Amino acid sequence: MIQRGANRIEVVQPSATLRVSTMAKELAREGRDVVDMSVGEPDFPTPDFIIEAAYRAMKEGKVFYTPTRGVPELTEAIAEKLRKENGIDVTPDNIIVTPGAKYAIFEAMMCLLQEGDEVLLLDPSWVSYEACILMAGARPIWVPHEEGFEDAPIEDYVTGNTKLIVVNTPSNPLGVVYPREFLKKVRDVAVDNDLLVMSDEIYEKIIFEGSHHSLAAMDGMLERTITVNGFSKTYSMTGWRLGYAAAPEWIVKLMNRMQSHSVSHPTSFVQYAGVAALKGSQDFIEDVVREFKARRDMIMEKLDELGIKYAPPKGAFYIFMDVARDSMEFCEEFLKKEYVALTPGAAFGVAYRSWVRLSYATSRERIAEFLKRLERFLK
Ligand code: PMP
Ligand code: GLU
Repeated sequence: MIQRGANRIEVVQPSATLRVSTMAKELAREGRDVVDMSVGEPDFPTPDFIIEAAYRAMKEGKVFYTPTRGVPELTEAIAEKLRKENGIDVTPDNIIVTPGAKYAIFEAMMCLLQEGDEVLLLDPSWVSYEACILMAGARPIWVPHEEGFEDAPIEDYVTGNTKLIVVNTPSNPLGVVYPREFLKKVRDVAVDNDLLVMSDEIYEKIIFEGSHHSLAAMDGMLERTITVNGFSKTYSMTGWRLGYAAAPEWIVKLMNRMQSHSVSHPTSFVQYAGVAALKGSQDFIEDVVREFKARRDMIMEKLDELGIKYAPPKGAFYIFMDVARDSMEFCEEFLKKEYVALTPGAAFGVAYRSWVRLSYATSRERIAEFLKRLERFLK
């Protein structure tokens, strides 16, 4: 029987982040006391006012197809947010709403990349960029970080085939908040070489040190930047599947064309929940960030005590640490022996085979249990 799919999918592996978390969930279902430090998904509930808005929209009959780019109330609210908070000078015509930020990334890459194109990716980067680049038929070019993870020599990796640079700040898996100087360099390299930039800012609100800068707000960047963002992290809405891209109109038009033939649009009433999320009080975010910071501090203290090296976690909710042995083996053994789920660093790039990512989107009580098991495992 024929059993070979198309190259575009045969070239990628299933998402490592989702695979590990599925394994952890299966073990938990078997009754194991699993500490899941794998998946990047806030453990806070979606705020009530957002749930109410979705319910209201359903009751009001907003249950039918919407414009493929998203309902005007939402594209307007997003454009306003980007203008006000990020200094990105966009109108609703520059916005496309997608089922999750991941789909915005996939769609943009499918619309912009093809065979022969090269994409600069910082090593390590979140797992799905590489997969989307490969599915689009293009080549990921891994750029190593400098010591300290806050700079990278991207200028040395530009060739005549480079089309796009991907930047994710705050970064998954590093937790790094890139300093303005590095982003300025990305801007210079992009403008000087006439490149496109994808700026994934999904963790923009979860920052403990440093501040967030949007690449599209920098001089000469509006016409070459695809800003990606979503509701999953800030509003604890991972399962709702709602994200968006802001880009030059010609890119939005291409993405919209692809969207019209694929997912059509994100779920109608979820889009209205998105409007409520952006327009409602943002006060709760401060509490969420404070809690994440307390968890981060708790983990850093123990890692320092154990002498484990890690990247400077100034934002998002991950710590990327060096376990000084094969990361796949480490994660497998740690899961089998101690029922702790972590994600191997090997999934995020090429140079970090001895590093692992932990997500602290779990309660302090579970984190304390994780630290206890980690110490025991290392002994
Ligand atoms: N970008 C980054 C850096 C992420 O970590 C994630 C994780 N889910 C996403 C995009 C996609 O988020 P979603 O599709 O849930 O909006
Ligand atoms: N982005 C999260 C993570 O890195 C969620 C899973 C995924 O979409 O990859 O764990």
